[in-house]
Amino acid sequence: MSSNNPGFATLAVHAGAQPDPTTGARITPIYQTTAYVFQDSDHAAALFGLKQFGNIYTRIMNPTQAVLEERVAALEGGTAALAVASGHAAQMLVFHTIMQPGDNFVAARKLYGGSINQFGHAFKNFGWQGRWADPADPESFAAEIDDKTRGIFIESLANPGGTFVDIAAIAAVARKHGLPLIVDNTMASPYLIRPLEHGADIVVHSLTKFLGGHGNSMGGIIVDGGTFDWSKSGNYPMLSAPRPEYGGVVLHETFGNFAFAIACRVLGLRDLGPAIAPMNAFLILTGIETLPLRMQRHCDNAMKVATWLSKHDKIAWVNYAGLDSDPNHALQTRYSPKGAGSVFTFGIKGGLEAGKALVGGLTLFSHLANIGDTRSLIIHPASTTHAQLTEEQQIAAGAGPDVVRLSIGIEDPEDIIGDLEQSLAGI
Ligand SMILES: *Cc1c(COP(=O)(O)O)cnc(C)c1O
Repeated sequence: MSSNNPGFATLAVHAGAQPDPTTGARITPIYQTTAYVFQDSDHAAALFGLKQFGNIYTRIMNPTQAVLEERVAALEGGTAALAVASGHAAQMLVFHTIMQPGDNFVAARKLYGGSINQFGHAFKNFGWQGRWADPADPESFAAEIDDKTRGIFIESLANPGGTFVDIAAIAAVARKHGLPLIVDNTMASPYLIRPLEHGADIVVHSLTKFLGGHGNSMGGIIVDGGTFDWSKSGNYPMLSAPRPEYGGVVLHETFGNFAFAIACRVLGLRDLGPAIAPMNAFLILTGIETLPLRMQRHCDNAMKVATWLSKHDKIAWVNYAGLDSDPNHALQTRYSPKGAGSVFTFGIKGGLEAGKALVGGLTLFSHLANIGDTRSLIIHPASTTHAQLTEEQQIAAGAGPDVVRLSIGIEDPEDIIGDLEQSLAGI
């Protein structure tokens, strides 16, 4: 890249990648290998002792993965990143790095249903407690914090309700209590929101969604903002205490403002193992090249569909922050002026049964549990993604029994609306 300060679309195509030095291949190759030959024994010892950077084994790093990491770190404005097998694996490694058994963290109550399950069930087996707060009320996070709290977790744009969160206000609470703010930026993508600019310390993504963008590969990523002082409180021994795994090295001391990404890799990924497949890293990297184009089209299409639905007499309500009348509109224009995202919910008159009939009558939309595909997708969260939750949790998560969720694709908007129109006509 010739420019010293390349723009977002340029970074999306180029960041982290060069033509392959051996073959001249212009596209980053799929390095489909498990291991890498050492130059000699000293080289091997230096790599294993964290004295030198280099490839050892694909559970820990891979050259295709490395380009993906550099690209997403550049797009988010972070110091470094770690790509892993899924969004959930990214979350697991983040908490593995900051939590000890008996510690807790405070999370927004409005989250992806899978994250509510992970925090409320699986994490209990590690002795980590997830506590809940209201993302619309920053002080409700403060009320849950005690001397065992190690972090705050929110989504910048909450799934499935499509609700924007006042990131800076929650970051202020985190800063006041000396805690890192972790933001799941999956739904917005860095094209719409860059949480590190609003006070977040760590960003996580499910790459499976908008970054990959084509519904063809699982992946997750952790972006280190380089902003948090891991040594100050003594509460983060993975970063601030000598690590017996590496001859007593103190990661924060040695790696400074990218120590968190290093810790997630050399303590978390190395020992817990959720590595991303090189093929998936390649597909996601290819997807990212068109992120700015796709994301704008997703937003523009979603705005047209939401506007159309809001005037339809069989629709009870539409919850899309892009609509002037939406209570979340002011936060959307402040945090995400380019658009309100692709995912939103609405309520159909006639409730559960009418919702099922609507889903059943569609032909262009796919009925499935995913978001962020090029294709338009539909789901009834209460019977699928959020089915494991109690009705109270479903309503709190914006996924009550009457709610239908759309993830608007990049097809022609007339065709998306036409499909909804013909199905609604049959109800
Ligand atoms: C899908 C999703 C996740 C989990 O990611 P996986 O790649 O499915 O593990 C986490 N957060 C949000 C907001 C998601 O949409």
